[in-house]
Amino acid sequence: MHFLLTNDDGIQSEGLWALAAALKPHGEVTVVAPLSEASATSQSITLARPLRILPYRNPLGIEAHAVDGTPADCVKLGLLRIVPRATCVVAGINRGANVGGGVFYSGTVAAAREGRLAGREAAAVSLHVIPGETPDFRPAASHAALVLARLLRGGGERVVWNLNYPARLVRTEVCVVPQDGNGLRERYDDAPGAGFVLEGTWEERPPEARTDLAMIRSGRISLTPLTVDWTDRVALDAASEILFAPGRREDA
Ligand code: MN
Repeated sequence: MHFLLTNDDGIQSEGLWALAAALKPHGEVTVVAPLSEASATSQSITLARPLRILPYRNPLGIEAHAVDGTPADCVKLGLLRIVPRATCVVAGINRGANVGGGVFYSGTVAAAREGRLAGREAAAVSLHVIPGETPDFRPAASHAALVLARLLRGGGERVVWNLNYPARLVRTEVCVVPQDGNGLRERYDDAPGAGFVLEGTWEERPPEARTDLAMIRSGRISLTPLTVDWTDRVALDAASEILFAPGRREDA
């Protein structure tokens, strides 16, 4: 396996290097990550200016490059110009969980999606961070490397594996669960003289709920296969029914 490792927190982030170290025994690792933080940029790409690739020296001696763009830029440029031989794209470990509706904003999940769209196996790894606490990425990184080594083994499914870790790794079983359909409860706080700042808190989930959000809330590891084809198959059939069913045609 040859991993193209990226993230959205920037090439200097601790979570990236914890995962790089943990993946190294499982295959070749090449890091292509944003020069500066690009969290919540989703799958945006840079078209208005040329991108630069800068070598990045690191204590692990891993081939690493910083790109002055977004996570999706790193994956595109990485696969086209730096490591076309990469078989897997892994993004993370992100500082903060990426669950529920939050996955649509995430640069981490989007980087993995970019890899999947380019025909590579793909996974995003994130760690829940409790406000005010210093995250320890190493236990999650060791565990994630073992999970990824098993998941990314030439499986043909067109999925993006979304792996989320609680802040403290107490229970090590992986809960395979669907994405939660809810987003964050959000509000804009007044920053006097400066405008408005978005704040989000997670919705309470009932204990019986088995979603990525519920698992992270209860301190468990969640694994969710996300699709790159966003078509809703049920609505696809229902739409034809509504538009083209006999007797309805004139209403359409
Ligand atoms: Mn981030």
